[in-house]
Amino acid sequence: MNPYKMVIAVTNQKGGCAKTTTAVNLATALAKGDAANGFRPAKVLLVDLDPQGNASTSFGIDKSTLDRTVYDLLMNDLGEELPIIDDYLIGPDIIADSMNEAWKQNNPDKKPPKTMIETDRDGNIISSGVENLWLLPSNIQLSGAEIELATRIGRETRLKEGLSPAYDEFDYIIIDTPPSLGLLTINALAAANWVLIPVQTEYYALEGMSQLMNSIKLVQRRINPNLKLFGIALTMYQNSKLCNTVEREVRKHFPGHCFKTVIPRNIDIAVAPSDGAPIVILKKPTRSNKGSQQYWALAKEASRRVQSIRQKYGIREPDRLRQHKLRIGD
Ligand code: ADP
Ligand code: MG
Repeated sequence: MNPYKMVIAVTNQKGGCAKTTTAVNLATALAKGDAANGFRPAKVLLVDLDPQGNASTSFGIDKSTLDRTVYDLLMNDLGEELPIIDDYLIGPDIIADSMNEAWKQNNPDKKPPKTMIETDRDGNIISSGVENLWLLPSNIQLSGAEIELATRIGRETRLKEGLSPAYDEFDYIIIDTPPSLGLLTINALAAANWVLIPVQTEYYALEGMSQLMNSIKLVQRRINPNLKLFGIALTMYQNSKLCNTVEREVRKHFPGHCFKTVIPRNIDIAVAPSDGAPIVILKKPTRSNKGSQQYWALAKEASRRVQSIRQKYGIREPDRLRQHKLRIGD
């Protein structure tokens, strides 16, 4: 794998620090882009590696009806064959359908915002905010994986092996991880080359960070020397003395790593999953929609960081999105 390919594990063993929210909104915003402002859309795969399947539910996906999930990819003993990755992925059309269904259930008399879904008079979907987004879903079945994997050969690199056909297909692969440093998270760190750590701006923010950094170092040394810290995103910020102190502390501990953008505590962000869409396509990024505005700002900052990494190492990426569109048009 090209060591500077953008495979980003969103990790922190703490629960509730906005891993899923960050992974979902970052993936969606990067996929949608903001072409008018020079932020090109990218082809993105979001991997849900948490048995809770919250990333999948964020798009209204009904987890009980899934044919194949990331669990099957991890457990498949493929021998020398590489998996046909498309068999495991949910594509943009199905994501758009399920977002539409979730919206209708929650808002029976209201049309969805056009940034999320645009329909014709008969209610058929014309366009959606997820046209470049693919999802590798998960459900509760994955909760058995840690134990089942323990005795399998290559238990730490199963995800990497399973995703290998996807590495060339996507501009970004974003992996949402469970709140632990167990085998699933190790698989994410082995499959990724970058780590993004969401940190909640609360009193215990830095607790557990040294443990997380140690795990990252262990994976770097033993399994994946390409792994690097992509950045730290401060989340659920409220304008208070405590949050300001915590922000200062985190920035002091990790100079140069924290994103300038800070995600505010914002009720719209928490409500968005029930409407079946991430906040970045549910609400326009305006000053009155701080949640959407700041997740867009984070995605743009992340994309600029990627560009400067590529410049620094002289890496020129082909335009995968254009290639993909050409292939579909054949
Ligand atoms: P994790 O994946 O780390 O467990 P989640 O992304 O699921 O964390 O977030 C935990 C809870 O907090 C969820 O209910 C989510 O909707 C909510 N939440 C996340 N970010 C924000 C925010 N910026 N403002 C308000 N609520 C948030
Ligand atoms: Mg989560």
